[in-house]
Amino acid sequence: MSTDHTAALAADRAHHIHPFSYPGEVRAGRFRRVVERAEGVYQIDTSGRRYIDAVSGLGCVNIGYGREEMAEAAAEAMRTLSFHPTFWECTNPYSARLVEQLQRLTPDNMQHFLFANSGSEANDTAIKLVRWYWRLQGRPGKTHVISRDMAYHGMNLLTASLTGLAPCHPQFGLPLPGVSHVCAPWSWVEGTAGDDQDFGRRAADALEAEILRLGADNVGAFIGEPMQATGGVVTPPASYWPAIRRICDRHDVLLIADEVVTGFGRTGAWFGQETFGFNADITVMAKGMTSAYFPVSAVALNARIGEALLNDPGELYHGYTCSGHPVGAAVACMNMQILEQEQLVERVRDTLAPAFWRHLHALEDHPLVGEVRGMGLGAGIQLTADKVSRAFFPEDSDVDAQVTGHCYERGVIVRDLGADTVGVMPPFVTSEAQLDEIFDAVRYGLDLTLAGLN
Ligand code: PLP
Repeated sequence: MSTDHTAALAADRAHHIHPFSYPGEVRAGRFRRVVERAEGVYQIDTSGRRYIDAVSGLGCVNIGYGREEMAEAAAEAMRTLSFHPTFWECTNPYSARLVEQLQRLTPDNMQHFLFANSGSEANDTAIKLVRWYWRLQGRPGKTHVISRDMAYHGMNLLTASLTGLAPCHPQFGLPLPGVSHVCAPWSWVEGTAGDDQDFGRRAADALEAEILRLGADNVGAFIGEPMQATGGVVTPPASYWPAIRRICDRHDVLLIADEVVTGFGRTGAWFGQETFGFNADITVMAKGMTSAYFPVSAVALNARIGEALLNDPGELYHGYTCSGHPVGAAVACMNMQILEQEQLVERVRDTLAPAFWRHLHALEDHPLVGEVRGMGLGAGIQLTADKVSRAFFPEDSDVDAQVTGHCYERGVIVRDLGADTVGVMPPFVTSEAQLDEIFDAVRYGLDLTLAGLN
């Protein structure tokens, strides 16, 4: 390691407050990873060791790392128009091209787009638009938003409140009022099969019960990830989302699909709504929009909501400095071009996902594995202390972290999602040989963890 590098790490230890990290560990210099470069599906650490990133960064680097075309697209935009706001009726060729591409590539229920920089900002924007919409309809009381347990919608005050992971709340006195959570469609804890369609409808009924409890006149929207990624890759049966759509329609509640992870191919279709058979009123996208080469997110509105808002004669008092940033727009367009030209979404659906699920199903008879769940190139491996009773391990046993630690020793990065779940979400450019390597490491991690428990 060079002296500069050592100095940089010392500065980081002393001054950088890392997200979702234990500050004490960072201050003591106990970094889990110091990654210097990345290319394709590999992250390369400061010692030169290569790791297969089987979680695509944070479920975002779908086209793989270090692509020259992406760097070129960013550089060209930076040279030409490094910044211009999209405020005050101004536009630029980059953001204009982005909406044109989005409109062409996304399903018909995505007609009007607002831009932001992160999934959290986009979800927060979506909730503001819900409020604006209902005010225009003469129903300003419809402000309450219903979310779900296990949900991850971001880390702003409001979006962290919508997030349904309990540890994210107490440090900040959350959730804010005006938000509530209903059960996730998590068949594992309900003791039912992942494809139990009655369970899917029952889980959806929890939303209707909550709307009735609150009074539909007070409820503006329901928000949900088509497949709950961070919360354990909780994947509902096919009956769930159509039932949610019917309930929202029955009670005049807007349906927001948070497609921050599922958007742009993760489930084997461009959007999770296509995979799970429903149309949201509002769709939120981020990560896969640029494969995280640049922070860009968007809120897409269907024609009904979009037209209603566009017909408001007043000004929109909302926006971020970098909404529709030329560099972000250029990068998002190039990312979509790569997805299209290399047919990566089709590759996920037709080639990679079948191979991926063959590997996952082969793990089902492992003594530690309770179930495997997910869709496309996203999976959660549920570990259990008892396959029959579906018992969780004691809180402090950290079996999921042990498995991910052993995979890391073997040069493969998978993610400990909590609740005894190991997440696997490889990039769309992973080869079948690399899938073999990933699952060799997972089995090694499971075997070693099991041996440690006995
Ligand atoms: N929504 C979902 C489904 C996510 O998974 C995430 C982040 O993981 C977010 C929203 C928040 O996105 P960001 O971290 O870009 O604010």
